[in-house]
Amino acid sequence: MRLVIIGGGILGTAHALAAIGRGHEVVHLEREVEARGATVRNFGLVWVSGRAANELELTLRSRRLWEEIGGKVPGVGFRPAGSITLVRTEAELAVAEAAAAGPTAAERGFELLDPDRVRALNPALRGKFLAGLHCSTDAAVESRQALPALRAYLEASGRYSFYAGAEARTVTGGTVIDDRGRRFDADHVLVCPGAAHSGLVRELVGDIPVRRVRLQMMQTAPLGEPLTTAIADGDSFRYYPGFAGEPLNRLNREESQAFTAARHKMQLLCVQRLHGGLTIGDTHEYDEPFAFDVDEAPYDHLTSVAEEFLGRKLPPVVRRWAGVYSQSIDPTAIVTRARAADNVWVITGPGGRGMTLGPALGEETADLLHL
Ligand SMILES: Cc1cc2nc3c(=O)[nH]c(=O)nc-3n(C[C@H](O)[C@H](O)[C@H](O)COP(=O)(O)OP(=O)(O)OC[C@H]3O[C@@H](n4cnc5c(N)ncnc54)[C@H](O)[C@@H]3O)c2cc1C
Repeated sequence: MRLVIIGGGILGTAHALAAIGRGHEVVHLEREVEARGATVRNFGLVWVSGRAANELELTLRSRRLWEEIGGKVPGVGFRPAGSITLVRTEAELAVAEAAAAGPTAAERGFELLDPDRVRALNPALRGKFLAGLHCSTDAAVESRQALPALRAYLEASGRYSFYAGAEARTVTGGTVIDDRGRRFDADHVLVCPGAAHSGLVRELVGDIPVRRVRLQMMQTAPLGEPLTTAIADGDSFRYYPGFAGEPLNRLNREESQAFTAARHKMQLLCVQRLHGGLTIGDTHEYDEPFAFDVDEAPYDHLTSVAEEFLGRKLPPVVRRWAGVYSQSIDPTAIVTRARAADNVWVITGPGGRGMTLGPALGEETADLLHL
């Protein structure tokens, strides 16, 4: 069969990977010269630790798929480095203890470590914390390298063609027409537009149950030493459903977040890039219109938390940016698959887990379509 896939982010690319893997032919359209949506702006974290229990199987499947992909496509930079969530207060410690003792702790690879064991695992963490929740199944990829590397791998199949700078304008049945008037015929059309919910998507499926979320990020110059795991702070417990329970309720009730962190709905996540710099974030903004510029206060907060854990000054910040992802607001849906016609689907809304889940979502759609 022949598929036309619209959108060159991780969702479109993972769907192409699944279809090519099953012997089909793929024409892939991206409106920009290179994808520049959420995928290239993210941490590249393949994040198992805080996923809800009902998403765990899919998440672990995706993590295994990333590992396989990493073996075949070294350019994606897959590394099974794990993560440590560092806790600073008794209330955060209680959440970490509950997670380490929870029914899915073994599957996630959770273990609560005292500060000496944290430092044995990640010697760059010379600062202050009470304990660390290690998650051995967390992993990372290089977001800005992954898409071109995957496309080169797909092209080698001889059944994949990528059209950059090609905006899909109309989809009628199995025919897609781009903004140069080129026509592409397919058995299935998959529209993976990221956070572009208007235009083509609205014409195809109207208003779907998704919202957009904006995040602020930064990257430092090389650290000069390895940060052997990704790190997170205890505020991250507040944003991941896998930590829900009485200890988290108590944390939320008794311990208010620092003013800037609460105002910008922040957590610290930090991962070292292969070039040695640290990608650090993030904030969450839900109300549109979003700011078009980045706000400095969250960066001051992230810098002070990261420096507290590292016990040293951060290297200079060399880049700051914001990114927007699409998030399903249907609590029963991990991703939104909206059917526009028999053979036309719009697929978006994986939220802050799209990089993690991309490969498994691509396989899941391929199963649904009996590819
Ligand atoms: C700052 C930030 C950090 C994140 N960190 C993580 C993380 O560490 N781990 C994780 O799992 N997830 C993370 N996420 C979420 C993850 O990045 C997204 O869920 C995922 O990248 C979504 O992929 P996508 O392909 O749907 O969208 P995008 O990557 O946005 O790609 C959509 C593409 O479609 C193209 N397009 C749209 N309309 C058309 C059209 N009509 N014709 C042609 N092309 C079109 C766009 O140009 C765009 O390139 C993060 C997100 C952000 C913003």
